[in-house]
Amino acid sequence: MQLKTILNHVEKHKSFVYGDGKWRHVHGELSLHVPIRPRRGSRPVCGGCGRRGPQYDRLARRRFQFVPLWGVAVYFVYRMRRVDCRTCGVRVEQVPWGKGRCHLTNTYRWFLAAWARRLSWQEVAVVFHTSWQSVFRSVRYAVVWGLVHRKWGSVGAIGIDEIAWRKGHKYLTLVYQIDEGCRRLLWIGRERTEETLTRFFLNVPRRVRIRIRFVCSDLWKPYLKVVANYAGQAVHVLDRFHLMMHFSKAIDEIRAGEARRLKEDGYEPVLKHSRWCLLKRPENLTVKQTVRLAELVKYNLRSVRAYLLKEEFQRFWEYVSPGWAVRFLDEWCTRDSTTKRN
Ligand SMILES: [Zn+2]
Repeated sequence: MQLKTILNHVEKHKSFVYGDGKWRHVHGELSLHVPIRPRRGSRPVCGGCGRRGPQYDRLARRRFQFVPLWGVAVYFVYRMRRVDCRTCGVRVEQVPWGKGRCHLTNTYRWFLAAWARRLSWQEVAVVFHTSWQSVFRSVRYAVVWGLVHRKWGSVGAIGIDEIAWRKGHKYLTLVYQIDEGCRRLLWIGRERTEETLTRFFLNVPRRVRIRIRFVCSDLWKPYLKVVANYAGQAVHVLDRFHLMMHFSKAIDEIRAGEARRLKEDGYEPVLKHSRWCLLKRPENLTVKQTVRLAELVKYNLRSVRAYLLKEEFQRFWEYVSPGWAVRFLDEWCTRDSTTKRN
């Protein structure tokens, strides 16, 4: 069976014809290139208004990546036509397998987006020999498609998350629906600013927005503010993991500062090798670390007091009654942290 027979079976486009596939090297890897040409007598579709018009000229050859076959990368190769459109002027044509300037075919984008529901984006990129950006664009494409065609139904709970990319210099904000039995990615936005999350809420119909009952996010300030503005009726859940991360960060800073001061003042370096003793939960400490911690607690150090406050705070998560939890929180916040606690 020929490659074009398979393609005509899985992805036939009425006004276009597949040519014979050829082996080519792309980025040092063997790949299959399938030329496409317009069917004789067919007129291009205007990219602006979607109406057919006379051909103006043709552009240079372009590659569109298709779903890999037997692990081999597949590209469609096509020279886009320009249309001499009566309404829009000279415009690049619309082709049924791809959109705009994207170098991935629609089918491939759906394929990557589907895998990205099962694996991390990074894993999908590695498994299918593509870039993280391509996976990201595919997911975004699927999400945008979902936004246009979505039946919002009822969304009771949403989760807001952020991911870093380009080595932590750039962020994306992701919003998930996290209702029981219905978990899906609802929206992706660039950056993690107030404006980002505001754009999400502006996308949600008002009738849906006012019925959101739970919002889960980390302590990122811009998110807190926007959630209060747009979903003030919802209970805002701050998750334990992110909250405790702030404790660890604070302890790290206090310990580093104190260690420096002790050294400057000529004291013995009691805080040396203490980092994990202070950050780990007591039950996770090694025997050696437990001994070390017991030693440390004998000193009246800010680091130790910070550690004790963090450990006390763990009790907060065990409260069932909101009233008692609030009392605990009030008491914990006003606790005199200068009292010696050993
Ligand atoms: Zn047009």
